[in-house]
Order: sequence, then structure tokens, then C-alpha cells
Amino acid sequence: MDELEGGIRRVTLPLPNRPGHVHAYLLPGDDGWTIVDTGLGLPDAKERWASELEDVPGPVRTIFVTHFHPDHVGAASDLAELTGARVVQGRLDFEQCDLVWGHDEWADVLVVWFRRHGVPDDVMLELIEQGDVWRAVTRYHPEPELLEPGDHVDGWQAVAAPGHADGQLMLVRDGILLAADHVLDPISPTVGLWPRSRPDPLGDYLSALEAVIALDARIALPGHGDPIADPPPARGR
Ligand SMILES: [Zn+2]
Repeated sequence: MDELEGGIRRVTLPLPNRPGHVHAYLLPGDDGWTIVDTGLGLPDAKERWASELEDVPGPVRTIFVTHFHPDHVGAASDLAELTGARVVQGRLDFEQCDLVWGHDEWADVLVVWFRRHGVPDDVMLELIEQGDVWRAVTRYHPEPELLEPGDHVDGWQAVAAPGHADGQLMLVRDGILLAADHVLDPISPTVGLWPRSRPDPLGDYLSALEAVIALDARIALPGHGDPIADPPPARGR
């Protein structure tokens, strides 16, 4: 666990695929901690979190999920069971989370989608198999409290960051931006077109980069990689 400015702590969790890690953040609050993102729901997720939280004084009150990708939402249920904290997730993001991970028929929807876009059968089979692997480590919470952009979580304001995921939410407070996978450095996030998603994710992404510039944060804490302090609007540009 790393100590960052403002009493924020960072936990780095393993990923089997690149970039090899994902960050979760602990935000100090008046009556306890808010944990931002959860890592994969691997078999040892609960034990790993229990040992990370051993040195954390005070209770965890809230688990905030930035978006429904497995490395961010995967251990939400484990962490909720461990801490007894409420889980908070964006309304749109939770709809897509449940659609993709909560229904086995989603694989059939993807097969039709991949065929329509000319994906060769062998590649498609591999993609579908990968989806099954991710599903097994995506233990999202079935009944989170739902949030809209502009709402607040423990004093932090939620900001829409579509593109990488339609309903992705960042958090901002006092010049510190919890950037999720919206602003990364030196890589940039994947932006893809998926069935039943918004029609122009790249347009959404570019517009949401304008929002990062307008926020004019001092530092951005991303889901992957080091803090961005050069400053975040420059990275947005
Ligand atoms: Zn992601």
C-alpha cells in the first residue's frame, strides 16, 4: 500500500494481462474510508484485501466502482462481504455490467456482433472463450446504490467519462481527480464499439477529454500507471 497526498492510499492488485496491474484507491472520510475499485474477483481476492486493510485505521464505509470492466468491478462482492460497506456504481454502468456479466446469453449477442463486423471464426471463438474466463472473476455486486454524474460520494463529485466504458465515472475533489481508465499515461485506454452501447464511443471519449481539460485538476490518479501531475489537462490535450 502506498501513501499519496491528502491521506489517500493506493493498493496495487495483479492482472494476468497487460498492463499487469490495476490500482485501487482508499479515500479518507469523516467517518471512514471510501475504496475506489476492487481488482479482479480472483479466488484469493478476499484474503488479499483483508491483509491490505489490516493497517488501515477505521472502517470502510463505501466501495465505489468506476466502471464495469473485470479489473475494476471484479471483487466488489468480495470486498462488500469483507467490510460490510455499501457499494456505489453509476446507473448506466451498472445496467451494462448486469447485461454483460449477469446473462449467459451475452455470448450469443457477441457472436452475432463479431460475425457482422467480419471477425474470422477462430478469432471469434478465442474472444468468446476469453469472455468466459473474465466472467469467472467478475463478482460484481447485484444491488449497488446507483449514482448519476454530478452526484456526490463522501464529498467527491462524480464526473462522466464515457468512451472506454459508456457509464464510466471519475471522482474529483480539491484538484485531485480519480481518473479511472479515462486518462492514463503513457498509454491510452481502449475505446471500442459494443452491442447495445452508445453509438459513437470515440466521439464520447474525445468530448470527455475536453471535460478533463475543463476540470483543471492538479493531479490525476489513474486505474493503471503512475499519478499524472504534468498536469492532467496537458495529458487531456
Ligand atoms: Zn477498463
